[in-house]
Amino acid sequence: SVVMEKVLRRRSLQLRNQQQAWQESPEGQKIQEFRRSLPAYKERDALLNAISQNQVVVISGETGCGKTTQLPQYILESEIDASRGAFCSIICTQPRRISAMSVSERVAAERGEKLGESVGYKVRLEGMKGRDTRLLFCTTGILLRRLLVDRNLKGVTHVIVDEIHERGINEDFLLIVLKDLLPHRPELRLVLMSATLNAEIFSSYFGGAPMIHIPGFTYPVRTHFLENVLETTGYRLTQYNQIDDYGQEKAWKMQKQALRKRKSPIASVVEDALEAADFREYSLRTRESLRCWNPDSLGFNLIENVLCHICTKERPGAVLVFMTGWDDINALREQLQAHPLLGDPSRVLVLACHGSMASSEQRLIFEKPEDGIRKIVLATNIAETSITIDDVVFVVDCGKVKETSYDALNNTPCLLPSWISKAAAQQRRGRAGRIQPGDCYHLYPRCVYDSFADYQMPEILRTPLQSLCLQIKSLQLGSISEFLSRALQSPEPLSVQNAIEYLKIIGALAENENLTVLGRHLSMLPVEPKLGKMLILGAIFNCLEPILTVVSGLSVRDPFLMPFDKKELAESAKAQFSAQDYSDHLALVRAYQGWKDAEREQDGYRYCWENFLSAQTLKAIDSLRKQFFTLLKDTGLVDEKTATYNAWNHDEHLIRAIICAGLYPGICSVLNKEKSVSLKTMEDGQVLLYSNSVNARELKISYPWLVFNEKVKVNSVFLRDSTGISDSVLLLFGGDICREGLDGHLKMLGGYLEFFMKPALAETYTNLKRELDELIQN
Ligand code: ADP
Ligand code: MG
Repeated sequence: SVVMEKVLRRRSLQLRNQQQAWQESPEGQKIQEFRRSLPAYKERDALLNAISQNQVVVISGETGCGKTTQLPQYILESEIDASRGAFCSIICTQPRRISAMSVSERVAAERGEKLGESVGYKVRLEGMKGRDTRLLFCTTGILLRRLLVDRNLKGVTHVIVDEIHERGINEDFLLIVLKDLLPHRPELRLVLMSATLNAEIFSSYFGGAPMIHIPGFTYPVRTHFLENVLETTGYRLTQYNQIDDYGQEKAWKMQKQALRKRKSPIASVVEDALEAADFREYSLRTRESLRCWNPDSLGFNLIENVLCHICTKERPGAVLVFMTGWDDINALREQLQAHPLLGDPSRVLVLACHGSMASSEQRLIFEKPEDGIRKIVLATNIAETSITIDDVVFVVDCGKVKETSYDALNNTPCLLPSWISKAAAQQRRGRAGRIQPGDCYHLYPRCVYDSFADYQMPEILRTPLQSLCLQIKSLQLGSISEFLSRALQSPEPLSVQNAIEYLKIIGALAENENLTVLGRHLSMLPVEPKLGKMLILGAIFNCLEPILTVVSGLSVRDPFLMPFDKKELAESAKAQFSAQDYSDHLALVRAYQGWKDAEREQDGYRYCWENFLSAQTLKAIDSLRKQFFTLLKDTGLVDEKTATYNAWNHDEHLIRAIICAGLYPGICSVLNKEKSVSLKTMEDGQVLLYSNSVNARELKISYPWLVFNEKVKVNSVFLRDSTGISDSVLLLFGGDICREGLDGHLKMLGGYLEFFMKPALAETYTNLKRELDELIQN
């Protein structure tokens, strides 16, 4: 180690010389000048001082003041200046992949280096990191995974946890782990960074750690609420449009009645505003949105009008539109393309900014467009704090965020666009005042804003906790409930119990809460337990190809497009892939295979176009498949040499069985009525299918059960993608026979029997049991 020490010393001197050379070069000087103009620079010495004097420091500051790109760099630079460069190892966590990637790229560029030299990144299944990487940007999940094999974070000198104000579940979890680790690693430095001023709770969680605020400067932003928006944009009452979908008008009437009944002051203002905006014109894109439609979500046409107003009447400057999600962004983008002004590429450049965009598109967002072209960025709340677009002058805020919530009583996750918090609204508004005075258009009335909560609810209190509990177990952190009771804010005991129960049902935890063999494998795969289980079984049962497609599809998103004006065509295009076999998952497998074949003939785009498939999504699925495959190879679950893992690729029954094993206990019974199908789950009773499921088109489903990967409570409970399965598949692959032995297992399934009154199934049981007994005896 004396030799090692020598090597590192020499390397440190090299690093110092390199850094100095860059800082003195003309290019380096230019960047230095920009960096010195950031508010964080004024606090540089104070920050570095505090970090060297204290084990934990909490830093807050306006978005864009230079926390993420500068602070980790300050630490790195000062270590290098002190000739300790090769001895330090700084990890900075980001809640999202895309920010870890874009920030590391930026920091490397500011240091005049390529990615993977002193600065690198690592996200799930991907990374750019070299032997000499001293500053690593990674997702929070990656650091948690590292803790799995390296509990003391050996060799790490600084951990920086960014965006803690978001209160993501992983960050809250990480904080508990780090808090436990600090006494064992007195040299380790922990820095917490937050965009908002409520740093106190973090400081007091760490025993009164010092807080440093970076004062920022922003220009004033003029605020328009809905009542002013309608005024300033001169929203005209448009002609009564022909309604081609009866649902629309009916929904409109019902909604109005509901509003009248409530008679709250808010309702009446909203009603007036909606009336003024001629809500009938609001196009409801899918039957799905009809169901979750509520009076709060204003139509695309209003957004279009505001954008039009800005483009024709206002000063130059980029526009940032906050929307709820990827679907919304795509649908609006499509609508804008048809607009005479907003769809004209010589005058307007419309870009999207969301977590799963391609990196080429990512770079465009930061670039200044040519003179005379207006840049409009449609973004999710990712642009609220983690991504800063410098030239924004106008912000349009729809006031919603798609947020998961969790109904612990019914053990059902809900995904609804819900109102943002006051803090988030303020954050969105602030994005407009970075380079000059700005304007923010909130598309909701003032009184609705007044009713917002101050802050968003922490994720740990509003999501299912299955993956979290599995991780706690695999990190050997003791009793799950005891561990979670030490969180910043502890989740409800019932949520914790539900998660533990789920893990037991799928066979990941034993009765005493210890990890089973399956559980240990699952905790090593960076996917939800149910998807992990499918991958493992797909490998064991040698039908990996189709299962890789199913799992990748479920973790990316649905590649089947459902444009609202061509819904019928799109749905029947999807149905062709199902070939009447009652499975969205098998439809996906076929669509993907067809695309691969078409790609080989250089015909992928036409194929996608004709079949209403998203080429971009299919590409993402394709690359994820490869990564999962590598992962399975690395964990030793498949052996490429023997190549038997694909022997049963075409056995549809086997594929169904493995899908069932993964999705269980997501199961509902099928009752075919005269002209419709009635579906029931044990917890919810009657449930419905989303209209884009191939099973939603069927008047009769010739399987007694459907397994589904997700249910969402909107007004009723809706099931996303489902697959029909037979009695015997449910018997053999539902749940974990090993857990209670065959008898116990049958008894549990017997619960289903009674509930759904399927006496025929009882017979199948008895027969099956007899056969198995005989098999075992021989
Ligand atoms: P914070 O973390 O405090 O929100 P950042 O460190 O992310 O701030 O950004 C500081 C500044 O660096 C931004 O205001 C912006 O001017 C600039 N910046 C950050 N990322 C990029 C990028 N990818 N391209 C160009 N400029 C960037
Ligand atoms: Mg930041």
